Amino acid sequence: MSKIVKAVLALRRGEPVALREIVVPDPGPGEATVRVLASGVCHTDLHYRDGVIGDAFPYLLGHEASGIVEQVGAGVDNVAPGDFVVLNWRAVCGRCRACRRGRAESCVDDYTASTPMTLTDGTPLQPALGIGAFAELTLVHAGQCTPVSPKADPAVVALLGCGVMSGLGAAMNTGGVATGDTVAVIGVGGVGCAAVAGAKLAGATTIIAVDLDERKLGHARALGATDVIDAVRTPDVVTAIRDLTDGLGADVVIDAAGTPETWKQAFYARALGGTFVLVARPDSSMRLEMPLLDTFLRNGTYRTSWYGDCLPSRDFDPLVGLHLQGRLPLDHFVTERIGLTDVEGAFTSMRAGDVLRSVVVFT
Ligand SMILES: [Zn+2]
Ligand SMILES: [Zn+2]
Repeated sequence: MSKIVKAVLALRRGEPVALREIVVPDPGPGEATVRVLASGVCHTDLHYRDGVIGDAFPYLLGHEASGIVEQVGAGVDNVAPGDFVVLNWRAVCGRCRACRRGRAESCVDDYTASTPMTLTDGTPLQPALGIGAFAELTLVHAGQCTPVSPKADPAVVALLGCGVMSGLGAAMNTGGVATGDTVAVIGVGGVGCAAVAGAKLAGATTIIAVDLDERKLGHARALGATDVIDAVRTPDVVTAIRDLTDGLGADVVIDAAGTPETWKQAFYARALGGTFVLVARPDSSMRLEMPLLDTFLRNGTYRTSWYGDCLPSRDFDPLVGLHLQGRLPLDHFVTERIGLTDVEGAFTSMRAGDVLRSVVVFT
């Protein structure tokens, strides 16, 4: 039987979000409903609100979440009612060429529920990244549910569903950071700070954080940065990174800011033959102009990182385990716990750079 629950919606471009009742139907084949316990406020939610991602309003916001599976549809065998899960926005198909070749992180399909959630008047909702977790109950594809240890704090592990996983994975999966590596991370908001934590977990011995905001550099230090560069006081970031790496440049440089300027800094701050990872999404107006010859002479690897090249079924629970062991301070990313009515305020804090993450908790 369908249920009526409270949810946060973006009804029109650029307008403050609104709390509304929505209808969550029973899950169809391959689908599950999840009682949401916690849901982080991500920049992508703000982009939906502002109409940057699309114009298919109304959007049901929220997409980095944890919860308890309530009901499953026909044919679901990866989760059962009562399972504690982190939701993921790139459920892999298991059948495409990439999946068949063991490269499921590059799966070309993303599975989301096809049964629509609606407003009480029947208007279908577009769930953010196919999830829609600023709601007491949500409907997703069962593949979007990744079981993890129920010992973990729901507000903390929810963040693995998006930004924190993107940063950890940029260092550990895409960047392949290894023991003894030198690593630089340019831009240490939520994703960049997670890249710092990932570099530490992977054994990097020098981890350099670069940002314009001193507060963010403080977070990066707390998460494992051995050195910080305040890019306001030290505009020549490339030389500063070279100075901290015996003049060589860093083995792995991660651009978590995604502008032409930081892209070039990351490119030139990299050691000869080193790895450059772009994890931030540039906007469509940005252009890059640089000597093509330099890309030849610098050798090495350039990779972009989508969702940290993660495979939720492979990565989420081990990372939760490392957190429970005290080796991954995921709790540091939770700046504040808020209610469903506080999402608009959390966007304001986010724009001001006051928080790593605000997390909506459901009681
Ligand atoms: Zn696939
Ligand atoms: Zn996100």
